[in-house]
Amino acid sequence: MRALYKGCRPHLLYKMESILQNKEDGCLLCGNPYVEEHHVVYGTANRKLSTRYGLLVYLCAEHHRGAHGVHHNAALDLRLKQMAQSRFQEVYPDEDWLKVFGRNYI
Ligand SMILES: [Zn+2]
Ligand SMILES: [Zn+2]
Repeated sequence: MRALYKGCRPHLLYKMESILQNKEDGCLLCGNPYVEEHHVVYGTANRKLSTRYGLLVYLCAEHHRGAHGVHHNAALDLRLKQMAQSRFQEVYPDEDWLKVFGRNYI
């Protein structure tokens, strides 16, 4: 599939869908249908990369920004990053996670 876009910039042609879950499934952690988009690897440059590679998950407000949400829970944050990295390696076997994101989580 990637070969089809050789010479193009696929991330500019369409908005990448999450490679981690279906939005219709609701919050990744509890299934709540009212979700917010979370970039699994965030920070200045990484946010764009997360979007480009579809490393997005959907979380309810509580699991996103709440007291026990991913932005306040280092263990959960790491769990999501590990999930993203292993899925990334499956979906993009030709890409090198470490080169793209500069840090291994697994
Ligand atoms: Zn939730
Ligand atoms: Zn977030």
